[in-house]
Amino acid sequence: MRIDLHTHSSVSDGTDTPREVMHQAAAAGLDVIALTDHDATAGWAQAVREVAATGVSLVHGAELSCSADGISVHLLSLLHDPNDPELQAQMQQARESREHRAQVMVERIAVDYPMTFRDVLDHAAHGATIGRPHIADAMVALGYVPDRAAAFARVLASDGPYYVRHYVQDVRAAVQRVRAAGGVPIIAHPRAVARGRVVADEVIAELAQIGLAGLEVDHRDHDTAARAHLRALAADLGLLVTGASDYHGQGKENRLGENTTDPEVLARILEQGRLEVVRPPRP
Ligand code: AMP
Ligand code: ZN
Ligand code: FE
Ligand code: FE
Repeated sequence: MRIDLHTHSSVSDGTDTPREVMHQAAAAGLDVIALTDHDATAGWAQAVREVAATGVSLVHGAELSCSADGISVHLLSLLHDPNDPELQAQMQQARESREHRAQVMVERIAVDYPMTFRDVLDHAAHGATIGRPHIADAMVALGYVPDRAAAFARVLASDGPYYVRHYVQDVRAAVQRVRAAGGVPIIAHPRAVARGRVVADEVIAELAQIGLAGLEVDHRDHDTAARAHLRALAADLGLLVTGASDYHGQGKENRLGENTTDPEVLARILEQGRLEVVRPPRP
């Protein structure tokens, strides 16, 4: 069984629709994926409709924008109740703040690279969670950079002059909110050092005490040493270990199934989550 528990669609900053993500997952030989758009669950309905056609089982999820004392943390929430008002409100606040923040970033960038927020919206699906990748796409279309990676390297970096923060949940509160909504909270790419500062092991230990379920260890942003360190930490703290691609369609090099999660681990996640995995009908 091949399982990839972290993917993005055009409901956030991936380039494939949820439908296309499901079909790409089938083409990649995956049996199970989680759709985990940034601060959004609007892609679930479309993805569920492709389960039968693709034979790919779907784990409902989201990637929540959080921080621990000013350090960015991405928290995957798997199988939470989609109607939980608290999580919904948090995600909505993040989406609204992201949109405003993108407008301010574009104002700053436009001083050096003329562009408008309209150019950015042209590259985002209606209602999508707006992220820096959409600004990158606008810059590519305007001929300023060859691709998203170059836009991040030259203009969009979090320590660069154009960067603006957006609303994020405190990760401690978020872990508790995810659990209250019946979700399974897993820290995404906890040691992705290229993205900026990462949370200390002490913070992960603290989160483990209040309900954190696991760490995403096998991720392309982690080298061998980071993976070994996180695996040992997870063992120490009794946390699950997952692996995933963090697929963004054509927006990133990450390929579906390039890292995967052990079926035993998925079984533990399914025990803890309020929602069931959506499986194709048996033939
Ligand atoms: P934001 O959510 O607006 O802070 O933008 C961060 C998102 O941009 C991350 O979730 C990544 O998916 C994406 N990203 C970060 N670095 C790169 C890169 N070098 N190339 C393409 N996408 C990236
Ligand atoms: Zn993303
Ligand atoms: Fe992330
Ligand atoms: Fe992600």
